[in-house]
Amino acid sequence: MFKTHYSLLLIIILFVLSACHSLWTAQTQPVPQQESILVLPVTEVPLPATDFAFLFPEEPELNPQTSPRKNITENFSAREKSDIAVADPKLMADETSMLIDLSLIQKEDYAFPLPGAKVISPYAGRRRHHSGVDLKTCANDTIVSAFEGIVRLAKPYYAYGNVVVVRHYNGLETVYSHNSKNLVKPGDHVKAGQPIALTGRTGRATTEHLHFEVRVNGQHFNPNMVFNLEERKLNDQCLVFTKKGNSIAVKSVNLMPNQLAGDYSSYSVVPKGQVKNKKEAL
Ligand SMILES: [Zn+2]
Repeated sequence: MFKTHYSLLLIIILFVLSACHSLWTAQTQPVPQQESILVLPVTEVPLPATDFAFLFPEEPELNPQTSPRKNITENFSAREKSDIAVADPKLMADETSMLIDLSLIQKEDYAFPLPGAKVISPYAGRRRHHSGVDLKTCANDTIVSAFEGIVRLAKPYYAYGNVVVVRHYNGLETVYSHNSKNLVKPGDHVKAGQPIALTGRTGRATTEHLHFEVRVNGQHFNPNMVFNLEERKLNDQCLVFTKKGNSIAVKSVNLMPNQLAGDYSSYSVVPKGQVKNKKEAL
């Protein structure tokens, strides 16, 4: 009987010890942390730290292309200051062809020579050998330089009457004739749109008008190749000038210069009405 009591007491002690051990273990051992699930509002979901700049590359800055300046003579000889059809000693001196890309001439670098004027006589048209185009508004209207350049000649000149010739940095020359008054003198630097003369009927003219010519190396060619005379705008084509003996062939092409093959000598088109060594009508 006594033995049974001892056994029971031992069992109780063991049970208590076991319970205490379990309790102590539970308190001291670290509780494994549950994996936390972060639930955020949709708007606060952080974006991965990835640089997306490569998806939106900066647009390269394009420098506006401008018409390149030609190597022109600015100190004129006595003949350059006295005659209209005179070649530039520098222009095309070392080359057989030259390009003028009219599309590269910026808006502010061009002006229609007689604003608001109408064509009353075309180049080489109804009147044979007409070396320019006749533009009309009214008497003593302001004539402006078509492009930037240097006045090469400004004086009375036979049938031209009072005439101004401007040599431009783009390689062309322009002629303004029958003026009642010239407003510039040789050597003057003029900008596009700058007044250079007033319309008149000096020389061989039956009415007040501007006889306007476009020349390259002293040789006139059709102003329609440079200007849209009806809309009074500049054409956006590329002009190809090719030496042909003593004259220059002029061709208008739509292609950009870098799209053309290198040999421009294949162009042999001489503008209709290109007449040499004959008396030119004004
Ligand atoms: Zn004329």
